[in-house]
Amino acid sequence: MIPFVDLQAQYRAIKREVDEAIARVVESAAFILGREVEAFEAAFAEYLGAKFCVGVNSGTAAIQLAVTACGAGAGDEVIVPANTFFATAEAVSTAGATPVFVDADPVSHTIDVNKIEAAITERTRAIIPVHLYGQAADLDPVFEIAARHNLSVIEDAAQAHGSLYKGRRVGALGRANCFSFYPGKNLGAYGEGGAVVTDDAEVARRVRLLRDHGSERKYQHDIIGYNFRLEGIQGAVLNVKLKHLDGWNELRRAHAARYRELLSGLSGDGGDGEARALTLPRELPYARHIYHLYVVQTDERDALQKHLTAAGVQTGIHYPVPIHLQPAYASLGHRAGDFPVAEREAARVLSLPMFPELTGEQIERVAEAVRAFAGSQLSAARV
Ligand SMILES: *Cc1c(COP(=O)(O)O)cnc(C)c1O
Repeated sequence: MIPFVDLQAQYRAIKREVDEAIARVVESAAFILGREVEAFEAAFAEYLGAKFCVGVNSGTAAIQLAVTACGAGAGDEVIVPANTFFATAEAVSTAGATPVFVDADPVSHTIDVNKIEAAITERTRAIIPVHLYGQAADLDPVFEIAARHNLSVIEDAAQAHGSLYKGRRVGALGRANCFSFYPGKNLGAYGEGGAVVTDDAEVARRVRLLRDHGSERKYQHDIIGYNFRLEGIQGAVLNVKLKHLDGWNELRRAHAARYRELLSGLSGDGGDGEARALTLPRELPYARHIYHLYVVQTDERDALQKHLTAAGVQTGIHYPVPIHLQPAYASLGHRAGDFPVAEREAARVLSLPMFPELTGEQIERVAEAVRAFAGSQLSAARV
């Protein structure tokens, strides 16, 4: 079986370093925040070229605190893409604000910057572009719109550790920017984890207060906050793994290039904008994609997934139901047809196995299985 991700293979490659780091935390008994977390915060801020990094206990918590720290709450609206992981919108809601959805761009899968302005009202406080699948959203138009309407930009970089936009690392470019260190992310902890990254000292101070019961000094609580603290073991593991991140991202890029080589005969990606049997992911000119996910598209998605499962290839769907059609947001009153690009993608996307330790032979076997399906199904679907 070819797994979708293989965290055990990664652990075997870094076992000694990681075991030492975890033992250090256990011996020092600094289980919550502490030196290892501080060291990671400093290292990650430096990696991104940002002034501050505040570790929290999930990417969802990071987004919630970023929204609050940017001043959005009850009665306010925050713009989010309709096709992202549920948590992007959910964290807006748990911060007390209302998510307002914008459709996706069909090529980049990220927020369609031409549709943002129509979603802005006098209640809008922030825009959250999501660097979906590891490729940057087109940030410059977002910044331009945000500046014109006096809005904060909050990057959701949960899938984009080390990804570039016009040569600059994403997740350090908005006012408050969010990372997840969920184990399967490109930079993953050994448990839950997340961070808010910012150049704004006041945003950093507010997030630091909010993550720890509104307190900077023990038993003095300046505001009502949360327990969203990052654990010492996660800081220690992340610090070890950060040193490998660029190398791992390079491997992902190489695997993506190999997939493209082996599958491009099926994609017929001639640049004429015509719908093809199998659409491969494309790296946009402004971006350096780090392929958190390798997402292909086809009208025959469900059949292709079934075929691959039978052939021993694990796949994923990111994501099968766009957020505006989730039961949890029924109260917003959206209907099928409101965000047609996001809806079409939800029906067509399929994520192939992608992780740094994927072998050349595994990639060939995946591609072979896709080609076998294409021979029997996709050519018929083409007409
Ligand atoms: C993973 C993810 C999150 C949430 O992060 P958690 O650490 O799981 O809470 C938010 N947004 C996106 C785009 C994600 O992929």
